[in-house]
Amino acid sequence: MQSVRRLFVELNDKEVQNPVVLITDSSHDGMDEALVHYAVETGALLLDGFGDGLCLGYHYGNPAIATEHGRMNNIAFGILQATRTRISKTEYISCPSCGRTLFDLQETTAKIRAVTNHLKGVKIAIMGCIVNGPGEMADADFGYVGSGPGKITLYKGKEIIRRNVNSDVAVEELVSLLKEYNAWVEQ
Ligand code: SF4
Repeated sequence: MQSVRRLFVELNDKEVQNPVVLITDSSHDGMDEALVHYAVETGALLLDGFGDGLCLGYHYGNPAIATEHGRMNNIAFGILQATRTRISKTEYISCPSCGRTLFDLQETTAKIRAVTNHLKGVKIAIMGCIVNGPGEMADADFGYVGSGPGKITLYKGKEIIRRNVNSDVAVEELVSLLKEYNAWVEQ
């Protein structure tokens, strides 16, 4: 890692403008371990602004990885998205959940994902409570925030647009908000 960083400093000092693709090979046995390896090696550099693209490789003969081209592709786009190098899908920001959480965060996030995961570049925050949620939504475009038992408040940026919507219809209301603010496209 140090030597790659050093290379970027050298390129910068010499005013070399060429794009740089980060190539990482993994020899881990499983895809989950390889994912962590790829993310650590390339993500850390991309977050610092080093590198313009990715090429993820694996050692031939590793059957766990050799057949997972689709997943590798998803990992590459995931790393590019998480480091804000290339935005190719919807971005979700959700709180870790705690004693204040007012709904099942995982189930609700899955429901919201199922209907919005084709909205390239839209950032949606899903926060468990209105006490700290709005302050932790970072730069989300839209917010879905628990505001009471069975109640959801919907935000556009930092502004409340629909207050205390019944949670049974809150996902549909979120979709209608996305449409209202021209963030919606049909699949
Ligand atoms: S936003 Fe609310 S529910 Fe979520 S972790 Fe923070 S305090 Fe807990």
